[in-house]
Amino acid sequence: MENAVGPSSPAPQGQLAEVWARIRGRLRDEVGEVEYRSWLRQMTLSALQGEEVVILLPTRFLRDWVRGHYGDRLRELWQAELPVVRRVEFRVKPEARPAEPAATVPGPASNLSEPAATTQAARPAARLEVHEGGLAEPLGRPAEPRAEIRTDPRADWSAPLDPRFTFDTFVVGKPNEFAHACARRVAERPASPGFNPLFLYGGVGLGKTHLMHAIAWTIRERGTADGRTSLSVAYMSAEKFMYRFIAALRSQSTMEFKESLRSVDVLLIDDLQFLIGKDNTQEEFFHTFNALVDAGKQIIVSSDKPPSDLAGIEDRLRTRLGCGMVADLHATTYELRISILQSKAQQAGVPVPPKVLEFLAHKITSNVRELEGALNRLIAHANLFGRPVTLEGAQEVLHDVLRAHDRRVTIEEIQKKVAEHYNIRLSDMASPRRARNVARPRQVAMYLAKQLTSRSLPEIGRRFGGRDHTTVMHAVSRVAELMQQDSAFAEDVELLRRMLET
Ligand code: ADP
Ligand code: MG
Repeated sequence: MENAVGPSSPAPQGQLAEVWARIRGRLRDEVGEVEYRSWLRQMTLSALQGEEVVILLPTRFLRDWVRGHYGDRLRELWQAELPVVRRVEFRVKPEARPAEPAATVPGPASNLSEPAATTQAARPAARLEVHEGGLAEPLGRPAEPRAEIRTDPRADWSAPLDPRFTFDTFVVGKPNEFAHACARRVAERPASPGFNPLFLYGGVGLGKTHLMHAIAWTIRERGTADGRTSLSVAYMSAEKFMYRFIAALRSQSTMEFKESLRSVDVLLIDDLQFLIGKDNTQEEFFHTFNALVDAGKQIIVSSDKPPSDLAGIEDRLRTRLGCGMVADLHATTYELRISILQSKAQQAGVPVPPKVLEFLAHKITSNVRELEGALNRLIAHANLFGRPVTLEGAQEVLHDVLRAHDRRVTIEEIQKKVAEHYNIRLSDMASPRRARNVARPRQVAMYLAKQLTSRSLPEIGRRFGGRDHTTVMHAVSRVAELMQQDSAFAEDVELLRRMLET
């Protein structure tokens, strides 16, 4: 049926087919193969009628999705090819069934959903372990041809867990101790009151995924250790959740999808913020969430924001997300960065001089991932050339990384942010006033100016009301010293830095 063209089409069919093929090709290039396959491949061109192009999709859901996400782009692409086109209409293919629950659908679709249902009903106690590799437990049914068509959804439910992300390798410090304690607690006693759901949040690269994997590992391993069937654990990103859900809708196996999800004991969903604005998927997640929590199963969710800030997530879901334990991972402090570096260097078995660790901890403050990346580079470099890691070597090897961190933040931006943060006037940055409540923020701003820009000390001094370069030098060392002594102050400064860097 592809490229069936209506009678009023002004272009010959062959030509129109070519146009349509080009448009799809463009779109595929733009959105990438995965996205294209998930949503766009099933578009068929129905007609070009006057100013209107009609595109068909097999389900209502897909139609709404494509219209919502790609409608405008498709119109532009059509207009670029055929300026006569004014509108693109999306319709559900008449012969296609709307995406109703698969159980009511006769034919092959219901075959597909059968095994899960049978397993559940006949063997209520049987539990399937979720492993990356496959099913741990045989299903006890004869090998049927359809088993080839359909691999059990649970078999590849859970994304693989990173073997490095365990509690053993997680370095605990002030900024993450609360989140870590909560994660431990949930890993040891899943679904205890007050800890369900566990909502972990924090900026990029601060250890959310690490903690989630650590929880999953712990729960799985405990089951293996005491020889009993362990709790089934499924870990996946919210994005994967969405892909699975959409795939289920498309193959009309939503019942299966729901059942398989609802049969896990511990569900971990990473990067929930991905569901913002994805209403259908959110809705599905909400139902799964409720079903699991009501059945006394543990949910663990991570996000880059606290529940209250997840604008674009439905209120009722937000409320439920926030009603267990909410724990945040704060920006790292200098001390934590040093401990993490020490731990990683030790794991790598490569001696790294303290000076180098300090250098890295000072320079790379954005997140642990980058810190780790920098250290790994030094280690790889040292191994490659059979040379010890040195400070000079580090400066050289990390030249580009450090430059990238030297983002073009202006001194004005720094002054403004710092003034706002400490609630003083911007003009105080340049004023001669020496009262502590303005002098300290001014020092912080000078410190950040030194750290985040490539301005020289005299230049910085000039921007702060014509101060001498020795004043700036003093400010920089004073702030560094205070950061060492006072972790709350250090966090404050790091927070400012983070805001300025992003
Ligand atoms: P997020 O999911 O918050 O973006 P990740 O959990 O992926 O961050 O962490 C990024 C990297 O930093 C990972 O390699 C992780 O092991 C490491 N990491 C983060 N926090 C810690 C920590 N406290 N101790 C050890 N490694 C950490
Ligand atoms: Mg992550």
